[in-house]
Amino acid sequence: MNDFDRQHVWHPYTSMTRPLPTFEVASCEGVRIRLADGRELIDGMSSWWSAIHGYNHPVLNRAAKAQLEKMAHVMFGGLTHSPAVELAKRLIGMTPKGLDCVFFSDSGSVSVEVALKMAIQYWHNQSRPEKNRMLTVRGGYHGDTFGAMSVCDPVNGMHSLFSGSVREQLFAPRPDCRFNESASADDIAPIEQLLRRHSGEIAALILEPVVQGAGGMWFYSPDYLRTVAHLCKQYDVLLIADEIATGFGRSGKLFACEHAGIVPDIMCLGKALTGGYLSLAATLTNQRVRDGISANAGVLMHGPTFMGNPLACAVANASIDLLRAGDWQQQVAAIEQQLQTELEPWRDHDSVADVRVLGAIGVVELTHDVDVASAQRRFVDAGVWIRPFGKLVYLMPPYVIQADDLSRLTAAVGLALDCS
Ligand code: PMP
Repeated sequence: MNDFDRQHVWHPYTSMTRPLPTFEVASCEGVRIRLADGRELIDGMSSWWSAIHGYNHPVLNRAAKAQLEKMAHVMFGGLTHSPAVELAKRLIGMTPKGLDCVFFSDSGSVSVEVALKMAIQYWHNQSRPEKNRMLTVRGGYHGDTFGAMSVCDPVNGMHSLFSGSVREQLFAPRPDCRFNESASADDIAPIEQLLRRHSGEIAALILEPVVQGAGGMWFYSPDYLRTVAHLCKQYDVLLIADEIATGFGRSGKLFACEHAGIVPDIMCLGKALTGGYLSLAATLTNQRVRDGISANAGVLMHGPTFMGNPLACAVANASIDLLRAGDWQQQVAAIEQQLQTELEPWRDHDSVADVRVLGAIGVVELTHDVDVASAQRRFVDAGVWIRPFGKLVYLMPPYVIQADDLSRLTAAVGLALDCS
């Protein structure tokens, strides 16, 4: 099987002719990934932020099976159904107050495309079509489609590869003030200057609230976010919060915007929305955006085939109910404390540049790039699943992980320190 896979199947961010190794998975259960050769790995990745309840969860399985008996999918144009409507109700109820319209799509990147389109259509419909550029901060990541790529960090994103094809957007420096610091005038000045100079052409500011994920696993000050949200109002620019990675508790709050007490005009959700079961995303808006786009008989020009997929919505409803009925806050707080205690000692290692923890996210930043292939083999031999990128070795386990399993993950980080 592995030979066919290597020769015919693309995997993420790897060469087809000299691919990184892949390990065949037979099944998953709780926080265990079972390989086809019988080995078991403790999952430190939650399948890229998504499997917050662990794998093969009986409640989510039941929800999927029950929905499957009714319909797996039906088109959303001209039809509607209770899984989507119930999910919209739940999302409106749990996200910051004021976000009360929901657009469903298939993946995080598409929900970002929808958000960007919404912002552009909003201003177009206010007879301000020149307000069609995006402002963002460096170090961000918003997905791999073209609009989303345009607002990813221009250096570690893919701008040089696609220059000429990707829209040139405006970039403020990465917010360097750390989570526990306040934002200084120096932190704010560059972004305020961009807003002052360019607000006439800016449709929206898009950023990941407080936690920058795939752009560098960086946690910045909620004070910065609060100030920037205020500046957006002052300069009449919409604010888009990309909560695709942070949503549903990962940073210690249900949504990372809550750290700053702000409400964006548009919010993108995905990943953990279905507890990691199915691809589903949502773009939420406030009434200002809804009414602005809809004025003068305007319609939002988007409508994917699998919009509001009932199977994915039914699992998302069950996942949200599971989250709310459980003690995720305590679980995430316990993971945070353990990550802090057990990762901090790695700071003394010569190859370690920084250690940082927020919620159920632990990051060890090295002084050099990690050789992923050799680190991955060592991790698998040690019975853990950790996938580093660049200089970053990071853990974001399912919230249900037990302390002894988490200790095995934090200890295993050491295996990557000399993999260069
Ligand atoms: N935004 C953020 C913050 C993300 O972390 C990701 C995925 N890593 C995306 C958008 C894109 O989501 P998807 O991979 O589902 O298209």
